[in-house]
Amino acid sequence: MSLIVKKFGGSSVADAGKFLSVAKIVADCYRGGCDVAVVVSAPGDTTDDLLERAAEVNPKASRREMDVLLTTGEQMSIALLAMAIEKEGCPVISLLGWQAGFQTDSNYGAARIKKIDADRLRAELDKRNIVVVAGFQGLNKYDDLTTFGRGGSDTSAVALAAALNADRCQIYTDVDGVYTADPRKVKNAKKLDEITYDEMLELATLGAQVLNNRSVEMAKKYNIEIEVLSSVTGAPGTLVREVANMEKMLVRGVTKDVNCARITLIEVPDVPGIAFKVFSRLAAKKINVDIILQSIGRNNTKDIAFTISKENAETAVNTLKESFEEIKNIKCDDNIAKVSVVGAGMETHPGAAAKMFEALYDQNINIQMISTSEIKISVLIDAGDADKAVQSIHDKFLGD
Ligand code: ADP
Ligand code: ASP
Ligand code: MG
Repeated sequence: MSLIVKKFGGSSVADAGKFLSVAKIVADCYRGGCDVAVVVSAPGDTTDDLLERAAEVNPKASRREMDVLLTTGEQMSIALLAMAIEKEGCPVISLLGWQAGFQTDSNYGAARIKKIDADRLRAELDKRNIVVVAGFQGLNKYDDLTTFGRGGSDTSAVALAAALNADRCQIYTDVDGVYTADPRKVKNAKKLDEITYDEMLELATLGAQVLNNRSVEMAKKYNIEIEVLSSVTGAPGTLVREVANMEKMLVRGVTKDVNCARITLIEVPDVPGIAFKVFSRLAAKKINVDIILQSIGRNNTKDIAFTISKENAETAVNTLKESFEEIKNIKCDDNIAKVSVVGAGMETHPGAAAKMFEALYDQNINIQMISTSEIKISVLIDAGDADKAVQSIHDKFLGD
């Protein structure tokens, strides 16, 4: 008998009607003879609403208490979905993350799964129960609730598929697959039939919200094939997997990330060790640095600019001000966006960068920073130009 893991995102369970439709998809699969484990996110905008409510009470609330609050969204969903499945006449049981055996580290708000103790899950599946599991949450070694970071239910689903050795992992959402760009924003975006782990990982990390990047990282590690598909149309979706002979497209997708800030350290001493000291201070604060640019030294000084995510900007600036007397001038700009193209074919075909820069020039968009890897090129531009840039680059590489 096949074991299928299905995950439904918040948009797929935004109201009662949607819970009933999801229950039907799950029940049909179960009645077709499969064992089914379902991971579900909080309904609609619940997580955003909870964040707003917390901010009204205490904008500096501890991360532990934030996690106690945020896990309630998914708790609501598992109960409602289990009720809807009961109505379909199928045996079902809902489980919170900890009941399903999700053990995590103690990094509240961005916890990593250490282990899934799947005994309870397996026992329920052996009884031919449908199991509905709360996504995005687990328990740490102090028996405290933890969450995995925004979009973390995707990771719950892939981890569950790995732990249960499932035959399929299906991620249902409000679009019918992974597209060459966000289909809600970019004209002529095309659905991809398949995409490699590495390409999907880059797209997800660089802003394509459709899958959480940690879920893709985990899928690659455990060789779990993911299908991304619509919870409404039932049409075949996109397969995320490793296929030896998959055609290497020059550009598989275009994406943007507006959640970034640029910090510039102006006229820092041009001496050995300064970069080491700056970036190790940031690492100690668990701040991830992305693009780094350093100017040529002049008059014994140089400038260092780098990007980080917006939520870390204030901490980064304060940390650097407190730690380095010798850095007098620190600028922070968060009115910027990173626009990227991703494609495995770039490794072997020259010219992708020139073509991307031409698309930006066509729109008179100024490039502030550039970074490349084997399969991606990213540029930093004004936030206000981001949508225009994505459309222009998409037209250039992937237009009809
Ligand atoms: P869920 O609630 O199911 O987790 P998300 O909102 O997290 O759904 O992700 C789905 C959304 O991702 C889509 O509505 C779409 O606007 C956005 N998106 C961004 N980039 C892409 C892309 N390349 N392909 C498909 N969807 C994308
Ligand atoms: N509910 C969480 C969020 O909105 C987790 C998820 O949807 O994957 O980020
Ligand atoms: Mg999501």
